Amino acid sequence: MASTNSTIELITREQAETRPAAAGSCSPDLVKAPWNFDGGATPAYGPGASMADIAPAATPRQGQIPEEYRLASDDELHARIMTAKEKLGEKLVVLGHFYQRDEVVRYADFVGDSFQLARAAKEKPEAEIIVFCGVHFMAETADLLSGADQSVILPNLAAGCSMADMADIDSVQACWDQLTDVLGSEPDADGRLPVIPVTYMNSSAALKGFCGENGGIVCTSSNAATVLEWAFERGQRVLFFPDQHLGRNTAKAMGVGLEQMPMWNPRKPLGGNDEQTLQDSRVILWHGFCSVHKRFTVDQIEKARSDYPGVRVIVHPECPMPVVDAADEAGSTDYIRKAIAAATEPTVFAVGTEINMVNRLAAEYPQHTIFCLDPVVCPCSTMYRIHPGYLAWVLEAYAERGEVLNQITVEDSVAVPARVALERMLAAKP
Ligand code: SF4
Repeated sequence: MASTNSTIELITREQAETRPAAAGSCSPDLVKAPWNFDGGATPAYGPGASMADIAPAATPRQGQIPEEYRLASDDELHARIMTAKEKLGEKLVVLGHFYQRDEVVRYADFVGDSFQLARAAKEKPEAEIIVFCGVHFMAETADLLSGADQSVILPNLAAGCSMADMADIDSVQACWDQLTDVLGSEPDADGRLPVIPVTYMNSSAALKGFCGENGGIVCTSSNAATVLEWAFERGQRVLFFPDQHLGRNTAKAMGVGLEQMPMWNPRKPLGGNDEQTLQDSRVILWHGFCSVHKRFTVDQIEKARSDYPGVRVIVHPECPMPVVDAADEAGSTDYIRKAIAAATEPTVFAVGTEINMVNRLAAEYPQHTIFCLDPVVCPCSTMYRIHPGYLAWVLEAYAERGEVLNQITVEDSVAVPARVALERMLAAKP
């Protein structure tokens, strides 16, 4: 199985040579190295699934890294990374997210989802630096859970997350103030508060802190139903951010009616709702989404079923509701991995999640036929911003000069309540 990088290169070359109108990848810019998109006048996510999303002005940007890393060949970068890793030994842990490109994941000591990786960092207290090959909110979570003497490094500061950026602390606070005006802040006769805030792990530390301060909690895509149950025990309704799809899919599976799940558009008064709608609500959904998972469609599922009768369709719950409803199963990255690993007979799997992970599963389980539901190669734009050149840059800086580049730190005023919200999640289990 070719890696996503080599697949994109192949498609782009074929398009240029033989099929100029073909749409094998979502952007020809994917063949360029990420530093071609660093240091622009306005922040942007770069090529990939989020390229049409508008990055907020405050989105961190990455300055140009030294030319020696930009001009180095793949072999040279490999040698430099391995030398730095060897020199640092136990002082270093490299974490790689499932959605990260193979060219980077090959250096990871742990590969997993965002929360598994944050916990892996905690299990390596001897590591002085934690290099997180993922995106910004993941590095923040690792900083929340790691020791005070450990530094978390994000090799490219422009590796944010377009979904996490769709809910910022000021907009959520403004929403909260309006909800308090309409719904009050006093508990009902059963002791349940008017609203419990629930944030998906894919959010800034500031929002996790907001939840910690306001009786709320964090969830992952693995435990969203458990967390919503926890919240309904303590509140009459939930404000769920930033991913509307995970909120809607989870609450619907728990029996909450769609009419009880209004959307909150932060650009409109009362989120675009009237007071009665908010009073009748059970889950108020923030207007956010993942541009990777938004690409999956019911048509793709129908095509997979027609091309491969008996195909098993598994999608991530960040996909839109009609896609989740049309699939055979929906679950987190961990669920998808385990479902494929547990299949004892050769099976055809059509998977609705990020292409790097799907390609890796296909290589790992050659006895099965595993493919991405989306025929267009379109990786997560922000994961794609990490490249071996950045990894070599941050590793050599620490190995040779003890310099920590691109450190991600969460201030105590945010970290303390954010940990409260994370601890509530851990206590809620499973
Ligand atoms: S896949 Fe979606 S949610 Fe995950 S980092 Fe990329 S944009 Fe964010």
